[in-house]
Amino acid sequence: MDFNRPTSARPPWATCGVPNPYIRRSRCSGGRLPPLAKPKVALYWCASCGGCEEAVVDLNEAVLDVVEAVDIVFWPVAMDFKVSDVAALQDGELAAAFINGAIRTSEQAEMAELLRRKAGAVVAFGACAWLGGIPGLANLYSRESILEFVYRESPSTTDGDGVRPLEEFRAPEGTVRLPHFDEDVRTLDQVIDVDYYVPGCPPTPKTIADALSTLLGGDLPPKGSVLGSSRSLCYECELNETKPEKLTLTEVKRVWEIIPEPDKCLLTQGILCLGPVTRGGCEALCVKAHMPCTGCFGPLGGVQDYGAKGIAAVASLLDVIEEADVKAAVEKIPDPAGTFYRYSLPASLLHHRVEPAPTPGGPAA
Ligand code: SF4
Ligand code: SF4
Repeated sequence: MDFNRPTSARPPWATCGVPNPYIRRSRCSGGRLPPLAKPKVALYWCASCGGCEEAVVDLNEAVLDVVEAVDIVFWPVAMDFKVSDVAALQDGELAAAFINGAIRTSEQAEMAELLRRKAGAVVAFGACAWLGGIPGLANLYSRESILEFVYRESPSTTDGDGVRPLEEFRAPEGTVRLPHFDEDVRTLDQVIDVDYYVPGCPPTPKTIADALSTLLGGDLPPKGSVLGSSRSLCYECELNETKPEKLTLTEVKRVWEIIPEPDKCLLTQGILCLGPVTRGGCEALCVKAHMPCTGCFGPLGGVQDYGAKGIAAVASLLDVIEEADVKAAVEKIPDPAGTFYRYSLPASLLHHRVEPAPTPGGPAA
């Protein structure tokens, strides 16, 4: 399935132009030939909540079509394959590896590198793998302050002795090793070469089905493509037509402050909806539930820093001049980093906190 690799690494169906081996068999021979080998694929999770794995299961009966079209040879969350099974594959033998989750530990980086070697194409699946996602917000803190909080300061830490797990512990029975907890969270493409991206937190069933159909089809998009809509969410939101021609904001409202009018654009009502700067494809699921878009489908093409784009968009809408009014409007966004970089801090230009993180008991940064 790569498409950018030597032909010898391609699965048999990739040269046919009719990728599903069963479709090929029935078209060419009326079903009399034995089935061709299905393309092998792997699914793996790194720093992930598991939602992306569940999203695959949420395909419901369409999962059966996936199973019919491909041979899943590695999927730790659902099947009992071992890492050694992957290591035993020839380089490039997998047609594709779908990897969700960001990279935070040495084990995740090693698995990503292994799957990269074995796969013709690597697909960063979901916001965490593509942009760093929610786990990427940990980049607002240093590794040391996270460990300090988790093992000493957190309210649920009752023993108070501050003991931290060792990366290596030797016992008479043998040596136990834990992965290294890296200094920061990285996106998948900050660790390995990535061929395609599937947006969403998690990707919706339709997004997944469309992405699979694109990958299994003969007409592949250029390497680096995001397999999703190329238009903003507003374009597919049914409230878009209620937006005034010139939209301005005089104040920003928190979602709990008002009961929004159901048939009116949320942004028009002062609720910070990031639909204008977010890639569409989710069919405005959150907006349909009267919740604003928080940006999980990521930036549109050509945008280098999603958060900066969102800040610029909101700033351009604010119709306030007096400094006190500007301050009041900005104060209604109590967590700017969490609002604008909720899914994309590791992929942003800054990547992580630039000032030293506050240390427990120390001066605030
Ligand atoms: S993209 Fe969202 S659903 Fe998928 S692993 Fe990350 S947090 Fe979970
Ligand atoms: S700003 Fe939000 S509510 Fe308004 S049209 Fe765009 S996606 Fe819909």
